[in-house]
Amino acid sequence: GRGTGGIAKEERIRVSVRLRPLNSKELARNDQSDWECINDTTIIFRNILPERSMFPAAYTFDRVFRHDSDTKRVYEEGAKEVALSVTSGINASIFAYGQTSSGKTYTMTGITEYAMSDIYDYIERHKEREFVLKFSAMEIYNEAVRDLLSADSTPLRLLDDPDRGTTVEKLTEEILEDWSHMQELLSMCEAQRQIGETTLNETSSRSHQILRLSVESSAREFAGKDNSRSLAASVNFVDLAGSERASQTLSAGARLKEGCHINRSLLTLGTVIRKLSSKGRSGHIPFRDSKLTRILQSSLGGNARTAIICTMSPARSHVEQSRNTLLFASCAK
Ligand code: ADP
Ligand code: MG
Repeated sequence: GRGTGGIAKEERIRVSVRLRPLNSKELARNDQSDWECINDTTIIFRNILPERSMFPAAYTFDRVFRHDSDTKRVYEEGAKEVALSVTSGINASIFAYGQTSSGKTYTMTGITEYAMSDIYDYIERHKEREFVLKFSAMEIYNEAVRDLLSADSTPLRLLDDPDRGTTVEKLTEEILEDWSHMQELLSMCEAQRQIGETTLNETSSRSHQILRLSVESSAREFAGKDNSRSLAASVNFVDLAGSERASQTLSAGARLKEGCHINRSLLTLGTVIRKLSSKGRSGHIPFRDSKLTRILQSSLGGNARTAIICTMSPARSHVEQSRNTLLFASCAK
């Protein structure tokens, strides 16, 4: 059926699962993989441990990617269409979800570069329109929003704009000149994230990173009448906090606070996505319950397209977290 925004539900949320290879640490301790992608859409748990027999054995998604699939393929089949919808004025978000060390950053870094490159190609091939690209980047840590294109780590406020929805006050927005400018900005984000880890004592497993590319276009003077509309949309590349943070952590003091806040953004995102993808009327969607979902509200839901890439470790020692990831992915479908 058609949602409020006119995009069919099947096209609104695309959910994929990516299995990474066993890493050297896992290999060194002789860890085994119990997971197998039996075709392009189904991953099974081989269920050889008797105490695990209560697990559902097979999970089906839009795409599943074997441990030896490269990021190019994950991008092409899991995210490309969603990312490129920004060129036709449709907001989009692409998420990497999974436990720490499952491959979120590895996957999202590659996807971001491929998508940017395809968007530049699209612009090259559409000389009849004039494009302006703007880039911004932020991090959410402890429900505080920080500009990744600024050396100032003061938390930014969210503002409710009647026309534009929620905006981030004073967030740097760079007009992109060319490809190398973009590369420069991406390295700056990476550097700011590193500074967060060293100076602000952050750990990337607890932070959400949002890289946002806004694409505005309008027809050049002699364009045909079908082409005369101005379009503006943005695509968000979101590297989420480790999904192990979604489970309740009962530690004391500051750690509890951190845990709670991370829980809030991740848990709210989970609820929002579940409600958006549930059949029929979904009722109240709690976008306002966390910073992450407030910032992304206009890029989620009826008028937007979403791709979620769930990354998982194949290791037997991580089976509980992998199962949680697959359950999250199943709810998102
Ligand atoms: P996360 O961001 O989820 O904590 P990372 O992306 O940092 O995890 O990945 C952890 C480690 O595993 C990194 O060294 C990364 O290069 C490696 N890795 C992750 N996914 C893959 C993959 N599909 N193929 C090869 N190496 C991978
Ligand atoms: Mg990471």
